[in-house]
Amino acid sequence: MPEPSDQFRGSVDAEIDPSAARLSSAPDVDQPRIERAVREILAAVGEDPDREGLKETPARVARMYAELFAGLHEDPRKHLQKFFTEKYDEMVLVRDISFNSTCEHHLLPFMGKAHVGYVPAGRVLGLSKLARVVDVVARRPQVQERMTETIANLLMEELEAKGVAVVIEATHACMTIRGIRKPGSLCVTSAMKGIFRSNLSSRSEVMNLIYGGSRSL
Ligand SMILES: [Zn+2]
Repeated sequence: MPEPSDQFRGSVDAEIDPSAARLSSAPDVDQPRIERAVREILAAVGEDPDREGLKETPARVARMYAELFAGLHEDPRKHLQKFFTEKYDEMVLVRDISFNSTCEHHLLPFMGKAHVGYVPAGRVLGLSKLARVVDVVARRPQVQERMTETIANLLMEELEAKGVAVVIEATHACMTIRGIRKPGSLCVTSAMKGIFRSNLSSRSEVMNLIYGGSRSL
């Protein structure tokens, strides 16, 4: 059987996030194909895919994957094109951006919060756009480490910022409901670019703002 990737061309986005390698020109998610596959899984685990309770399941799962992976067919850069020019050159931080993503190793959810900060060099972004970028990147088969890097690189490139800091905290269903089964474990990843990488006090400042005493949510 040919790989699904045969049908698709890559895109510029693939350079930043290989999980998006089949992006853009893919017309849509091939839902009938998912339905066939889900029927196969049900049969393989010893279920009867035709019993009443499971009849609609393949179609439902297909729609679910189309939703969960919608970010494969979207370029997050589109949310980074409308910035305004401001002299402001202090840090901007949006904390606690909640997200859901899907671990590409197990196709199970991982979910949590992203904290995204940057120091502008003239280009300032509408605050909701940071959350939109997180959303698009999350809606792909992902690993948390790459998700963190991808968001940071996108902001560095599109905003030409002096620095970008991304910290993501998430719980992974593949760690809590199967395998090692450690509910409550939190995976934290960070990507520091520009001034946040080179300057220790900038880095401490952003970490203090993320984790500091002002936290009241
Ligand atoms: Zn996993």
